[in-house]
Amino acid sequence: MKRYEGKAKIMEESKEAGKLSVSFKDDLTAFNNEKKSALVGKGALAAKISKILFEFLIAKGFQTHFIQEISPNVHEVWKLKMLPLEVIIRYKAAGSLAKRLKLTEGTLLSRPIIQFCLKDDSLGDPQLAESEVLALGLANSKNINELKNQTLLVGEYLKALFHELKLDLVDLKLEFGLDDTGKIILGDEISPDTMRLWRQEGPESEKKLDKDLFRFDLGDPIVGYRAVLEKLESFDCLSFNPKIALEASLSIHPQAGLLDPVGKAVTQACQQLGFGSVASIASGKRLLLSFSAYRFGLLEELCGRLLVSPAAEEYEYELSLPERTESLV
Ligand code: 5GP
Repeated sequence: MKRYEGKAKIMEESKEAGKLSVSFKDDLTAFNNEKKSALVGKGALAAKISKILFEFLIAKGFQTHFIQEISPNVHEVWKLKMLPLEVIIRYKAAGSLAKRLKLTEGTLLSRPIIQFCLKDDSLGDPQLAESEVLALGLANSKNINELKNQTLLVGEYLKALFHELKLDLVDLKLEFGLDDTGKIILGDEISPDTMRLWRQEGPESEKKLDKDLFRFDLGDPIVGYRAVLEKLESFDCLSFNPKIALEASLSIHPQAGLLDPVGKAVTQACQQLGFGSVASIASGKRLLLSFSAYRFGLLEELCGRLLVSPAAEEYEYELSLPERTESLV
């Protein structure tokens, strides 16, 4: 039973409820479908690379839609309600960023850029400001925060892994969906179709190993994708545990609807001092944390066990990279 055919993949309902099969196609498209081709074996290479990268992330404690490989170009995945968004993280200027801001390709950004784009071929997947994502109801502010946190963390793990393989992760596009409980889960694929990967060493003409080979007729994408796969297969990805230095800004406040004695007392004090226009003040606190080695789920664990009182408080956090950490790319 076919469910959906996209430019690079076909999703079909599985016999088991809640699961789908994803077939990776040999088709390559670029520039909003203006350039199209098919290369025998491309789908299987993208599927294999994606499998290895999903398994790497899962081994580090990350939740994704990936369940298992069914055949060389087919994955079994959990069904998600996909958000109509692409989340892009960039470490060096390339592609549309380099073009839009006239930056030299390869310019190292002083911190990663996270961008949202609307998944709409007819509009050319336009970039969206966070306020547009919110105003169009594409994701709520909690989800936007979660998308940015997950993207930053996935990016750091993948960047560190590729660095071990002497590859630079230049940029990366991720897509997410919601599971039955409304949790944000990483879906789609992670392959040279969806990222820019450059060799750190060797001649300039052989640097690029990703879909730019096809976009700009720079070489055979199969050769590039195979080189990425060979590097990944020659390395024990599952045992690799990079030290991810991160900072987090954690906001803790009383649960909505619960009594907030501190907020109430401060509101009353303001009013008694004559600031009658102060209608209400909600209390809360912000903790700034710095980690020498962060891992998926660590903050949730810390909050659950120590920092937050689950019966009375709720929290949200924003991850960022420490200011002076040397970038790996
Ligand atoms: P750019 O905006 O520079 O064209 O793309 C940034 C990164 O996101 C690149 O790694 C690119 O491959 C990926 N990306 C952006 N949009 C799409 C898309 O619609 N499909 C795919 N496969 N990748 C995309």
